[in-house]
Amino acid sequence: MTDFIRKRLVIGNWKMHGTSVQNAALLSSLGDYAGSAELAVCVPFPYLAQASQSLEGSAISWGAQDVSAHAQGAYTGEVSAAMLADFTCRWVLVGHSERRAYHGETDALVADKTQAAIGAGLTPVVCIGETLAEREAGRLQEVMLRQLDQVLALGGDALSRIVLAYEPVWAIGTGQSATPELAQEAHAFIRAQLERAGQPQVRVLYGGSVNAANAASLFEMPDIDGALVGGASLQAQEFLRIAAS
Ligand code: PEP
Repeated sequence: MTDFIRKRLVIGNWKMHGTSVQNAALLSSLGDYAGSAELAVCVPFPYLAQASQSLEGSAISWGAQDVSAHAQGAYTGEVSAAMLADFTCRWVLVGHSERRAYHGETDALVADKTQAAIGAGLTPVVCIGETLAEREAGRLQEVMLRQLDQVLALGGDALSRIVLAYEPVWAIGTGQSATPELAQEAHAFIRAQLERAGQPQVRVLYGGSVNAANAASLFEMPDIDGALVGGASLQAQEFLRIAAS
């Protein structure tokens, strides 16, 4: 018997999109959000000040899309967790598949970034998910276990402060979302690992071509606690419809 509520959480990942003019329009259309789901946007670093100024006092929180594993020092181009906290970020994406694929982020680095984020009081949204080749080779669970292993090893106190996002790589940006059933199967497996770690209340978001047309059927699944939304988060009305699904 569970005695906790996993409140629905919808996070927009703007990726490397936007200008200050475009962002101003998007943020002002979101600003008076008053729905029941928790809503957040993860914006490019240069726009954190704009997001915090625009969303301050609103029901929407904000965050970044990456963080350094290091606290400070000679790490040119990196941004520390403390710096994100300085912009009153609540969230940071960690281990997004685009960072794993294009920047060589390893499972160990993802765990270190997760720890750094928690240390600064941020909530890391740790992304995992298999490629199409891995799925077709029947390696879904093996890949998820490998990606989760070092994060779960951070221990119960750290785990209680994270959010996980299951994002099958083949569904990201392709317009081809996982079916609710396929997504639920992966989420149930992740939930079982969280249960083994004593943290079944950790929220697990689904990500991969979520839009206003498919969000409700995904959210009906018992182990899907919300969504990490890329492309559709750049259109205010679409993003708000997802949140209301
Ligand atoms: C993402 O960037 O995490 C993502 C899920 O993108 P999209 O919604 O565009 O597939």
